[in-house]
Amino acid sequence: MKPFRLKSKSCPYCKLINLVCFWGPRRSAPWKRPWLFALSLAFTSLFWLLLWILKDSVYPISFAVEAVVLPLALAAPLGIIVALHGCRACVARLFGDL
Ligand SMILES: [Zn+2]
Repeated sequence: MKPFRLKSKSCPYCKLINLVCFWGPRRSAPWKRPWLFALSLAFTSLFWLLLWILKDSVYPISFAVEAVVLPLALAAPLGIIVALHGCRACVARLFGDL
């Protein structure tokens, strides 16, 4: 007899989400997964587009903006991955509450 896998209870991203999302567990809702996916995809495109626009800029302010946008551009794809493979708890926690 195979051990029962609690797929809805945990996933490989639970530890990471636990570390990143300091705000604690949030209510899980069925609409959060598609929204998390759509928003993460939108933000990822937006941030990388912004970095691409700024890369040839010579203004000092653009370096400050890049320093803020780069971590976000690297973090946003996490939302896409969690929306696709994460458990409900991770999706709810990463999305937060509106
Ligand atoms: Zn999880």
